[in-house]
Amino acid sequence: MQTKLKETTAVYLENLSKIYPGSPPVEALSGITLRVYTGEFIGIIGASGSGKSTLLHVVGTLTRPTSGSLFINGVDTSDMSDGQLSAVRSKNIGFIFQDFFLLSGFSAIENVENGLLYSGVNNKERTKRANNILERVGLSHRINHRPSEMSGGEQQRVAIARALVHEPAFILADEPTGNLDSVNTKSIMDLLTELNKEGTTLILITHDVEIATNLHRQVTLKDGHIETDSYENAGANIV
Ligand code: ADP
Ligand code: MG
Repeated sequence: MQTKLKETTAVYLENLSKIYPGSPPVEALSGITLRVYTGEFIGIIGASGSGKSTLLHVVGTLTRPTSGSLFINGVDTSDMSDGQLSAVRSKNIGFIFQDFFLLSGFSAIENVENGLLYSGVNNKERTKRANNILERVGLSHRINHRPSEMSGGEQQRVAIARALVHEPAFILADEPTGNLDSVNTKSIMDLLTELNKEGTTLILITHDVEIATNLHRQVTLKDGHIETDSYENAGANIV
């Protein structure tokens, strides 16, 4: 049982807290224990200031927790050096943010190819994969455009393609459709749902009640605590 759980866990947070220093300090996450199973599409929901972005930054190994443990694919990251964390991050995690964080001097395809820089994939294969994923997000007609030559919706699709192109173990998405209109929101959610069906584990932050309702699992945060977890109400699913 223990072995099986370990094998099927993508992310495990154990009694994890994050305190931002200051006067007064802010306890943005407080004693969070959460297991995300491989293959889940989980929504993190909560009011502004509840700790959602902090949780994503900690799970994404961009910010270290103040206390507690973070396991990525069964491996404890607590004692890792910055270099080791960076390797774990680039292999396992795809990021999607509400703001696109594209490189302004580069075309759409170059931005997506950047997502494969540390993967050992050769130039030709990088271009091929970037082309494929850009086509998948509906941008094959914009591959040579720079961010300043694209709409916000198009820029976000490039960012999503970049997050997906190295086929990460899981995707962390912070309000990924926050800047998209309803048509683009639906097409992006359809794409994410498709990827989830193919096995990609997704952790998504959203304020959109409709999107959250349709997700496989919802976790609500309040003041840095887990307030509800729909998985706990789905006992039949727990092996
Ligand atoms: P959410 O994404 O749910 O809006 P955040 O994780 O951004 O919540 O923030 C949680 C709490 O931590 C808030 O009270 C916020 O003001 C505080 N906070 C976030 N980032 C920092 C920071 N870098 N320094 C100090 N406090 C922060
Ligand atoms: Mg936030």
